[in-house]
Amino acid sequence: MPDDFGMTCPICGSDSWSIVAQTSDFGLSQCINKCIIRTLPMPLYEPETDNTGNSETVTVMENVYSDPADGHFRLARELLCLAGRFKPGGRLLDIGCGMGLLKLAQEIGYDITGIDPTNSSTKYAQQIFGLNPLIGFFPDERLGLETFDIITMNHVLEHLPDPNFVLNAAIHLLKDSGVLAIASPDYNGLMRRLRRTKWEGIRPCEHVWQLTSNSIANLLLKNGLEIAAKKNTTLQYNTSVGSLFRRLALKTAIGVAGPLNLGDNAIVIAQKSSSKRRPAA
Ligand SMILES: [Zn+2]
Repeated sequence: MPDDFGMTCPICGSDSWSIVAQTSDFGLSQCINKCIIRTLPMPLYEPETDNTGNSETVTVMENVYSDPADGHFRLARELLCLAGRFKPGGRLLDIGCGMGLLKLAQEIGYDITGIDPTNSSTKYAQQIFGLNPLIGFFPDERLGLETFDIITMNHVLEHLPDPNFVLNAAIHLLKDSGVLAIASPDYNGLMRRLRRTKWEGIRPCEHVWQLTSNSIANLLLKNGLEIAAKKNTTLQYNTSVGSLFRRLALKTAIGVAGPLNLGDNAIVIAQKSSSKRRPAA
């Protein structure tokens, strides 16, 4: 039955939704045409008020992003690896650069620019990696009329109340044949199917959308891009801790998820065609 939250589907424009899951804390509602799932109530972004990038936050993030075996680090590497097949060099913009991706991109040889509204993320990039990303929301006039060969959004799209607005702005900063590379938790993955509403990727306090590789691809197609590659990968689970049963169950699930393309993260690479008219501003 349709809910009453009055929001249109960013893919098909329908304003009819039906509840597909409900817990005591949150609900999930799907477009009546099954395009996309959103979180109820819609999470509200609360910018950090700490401008100092306190050391405790930096230490926590250092543990995450300095470990090559960590899931976030590996996802950033996989995203760049797949995008690099289409654009192996040039100017790269990372929107929401909180995950160490900029440093990896710099090591690969890209000319990097990053922007993130979170002070602790940008302070981390400055203090640990010696980078200097912009602090703020995208789009940002400081980026001017610069054009980029690659724009990356790693675990960003699912946070945006108006994904079409941001995608459209990003596409206008892409050069012809430029690449937009997106990574997001995948609601269609095996872990979500097994753990249902307990799946860690839902994050109902943060994620406006519960995306899949198909819904990401359809958002990109709607904004005039061509899909160049799609990949699913399972990265978020530590299989070396917990009971023997847990470790075996996780290793088995991850082993099965890979070949079935049911990993818990989706990577979608899209390309701006130089032969097509650009989307309207
Ligand atoms: Zn729809």
